[in-house]
Amino acid sequence: MSFSPSARIVILGAGHAGGACAALLRQYGHEGTISLVGDEPIPPYQRPPLSKAWLKGEADAESLALRPLSFYADNDIQFHPNTRAVRIHRADQLVDCADGWVIPYDVLILATGARALPLPIAGSNLAGVLSLRTAADAEALKAALGPGKTLAVIGGGYIGLEVAASGRALGAEVVIIERETRVLARVACPALSEFFSDYHEAKGVRFELGCGVTAFQGEHGHVTDVVLSNGQVLACDAVVVGIGAAPNDELAVEAGLNCTRGIVVDLAARTSDPNIYAIGDVTHRPLPIYDRMFRLESVPNALEQAKQAAADIIGRPTPQMEVPWQWSDQYDLKLQIAGYPFDVDEILIRGDPKTAKFAVFHLHGGQVQAVEAINAPAEFMMGKTLIGNRRAVDKAKLVDLSVSMKEVAI
Ligand code: FAD
Ligand code: NAP
Repeated sequence: MSFSPSARIVILGAGHAGGACAALLRQYGHEGTISLVGDEPIPPYQRPPLSKAWLKGEADAESLALRPLSFYADNDIQFHPNTRAVRIHRADQLVDCADGWVIPYDVLILATGARALPLPIAGSNLAGVLSLRTAADAEALKAALGPGKTLAVIGGGYIGLEVAASGRALGAEVVIIERETRVLARVACPALSEFFSDYHEAKGVRFELGCGVTAFQGEHGHVTDVVLSNGQVLACDAVVVGIGAAPNDELAVEAGLNCTRGIVVDLAARTSDPNIYAIGDVTHRPLPIYDRMFRLESVPNALEQAKQAAADIIGRPTPQMEVPWQWSDQYDLKLQIAGYPFDVDEILIRGDPKTAKFAVFHLHGGQVQAVEAINAPAEFMMGKTLIGNRRAVDKAKLVDLSVSMKEVAI
């Protein structure tokens, strides 16, 4: 698809995907208006540091911004903060905003992201029961952390583990309550889950695994305790609920776009309406190498789909598909994961987990399907290449540390 160079492009959601797409459209030479509409008060920023460097006080607020505010005016991108879109009229190509503004479009890009899932139990409205999605959420969490404070984290996923590591760095006591019997159950293999639990425990984090939460209790409107499904009552000063994210796809659903667990798109980020694209966490997208649809919630995905949409709108070829990847920083550990371990018939470990530098390779029919690397960037990079090229790997070389990963991937 290619639109007129003067097409009016409206992007709803000024987050990682929306901000990147606006910049790319100008970079690719789009001449028409680009309106970037977001309901947050600040220009597009990075969320990853909110649970890591920024939370620990190692990065300032300015460093969160993807680009300085002046970038938008300098590139003739009309950035509208504090503006919430409330309805799409597809037949008339208009968007209604909560403040009464009606925006006409020729091309609409939905980049509304996802929101933290709430935990609908008694006491969840008490002060001190927090979630972490936005810079404002992170400010509230930072104020609740510090020496002598006890933080209860519900959910042992990325948010839970990263916040726990940052909380420990700030001197807080931390307990993680996870419904599964292992942490990172949605994204990592059991060996990695065990490695992370052990590492966190050695840093002083407590775990309650295989356990839910039935209520929060409080005094004077502020949380004081978490009641677990096994009957235990744990005292705390604050709670972080990190139990997953839901796509902000309501506008698309109401407008009648094809949506299933997010807005359904193709490999050019096109929705079921030829004038509407969707990018980032809000989408449900294909990944041909796994022959399935996914809702990927990561920065690499947001950037890849921003490129897909911008290229398609301008009339450039669709960029080559990336092997999906994600990362997480906890203490001195860098976890990097590429691919997904479907139909795995063999798992090989390169390196020794005791050294906190190793990689787990997941194979199917001798081909690498996924790699999980801890402090092992070469294993991650070359593993990602191996996943992409779909060739059988020499298994003896793969586990032999005296053979470089470059040689393994040839
Ligand atoms: P978002 O960045 O969420 O942006 C969507 C924007 O749209 C938001 O500003 C939202 O308020 C706005 N919006 C929603 N509805 C409307 C509306 N109706 N009108 C106007 N605006 C609207 N990913 C990684 O790959 N690595 C990491 O280490 C990592 N760490 C993370 C740490 C934290 C604490 C969090 C919360 C996320 C992390 N992620 C990480 C995930 C990553 O940040 C997301 O995948 C990425 O932000 C998705 O970009 P997006 O633009 O799709 O959504
Ligand atoms: P997540 O990674 O999906 O993990 C949530 C965990 O909470 C799951 O293990 C889940 O177990 C568990 N859980 C669900 N309900 C529970 C309950 N009632 N009690 C106890 N545990 C419960 O989600 P997240 O950590 O909240 O992250 C939210 C979003 O931010 C995601 O999009 C994530 O990708 C993104 N993020 C990414 C990074 C990164 O890439 N490094 C870092 C931070 C955030 P079940 O599987 O049983 O439901």
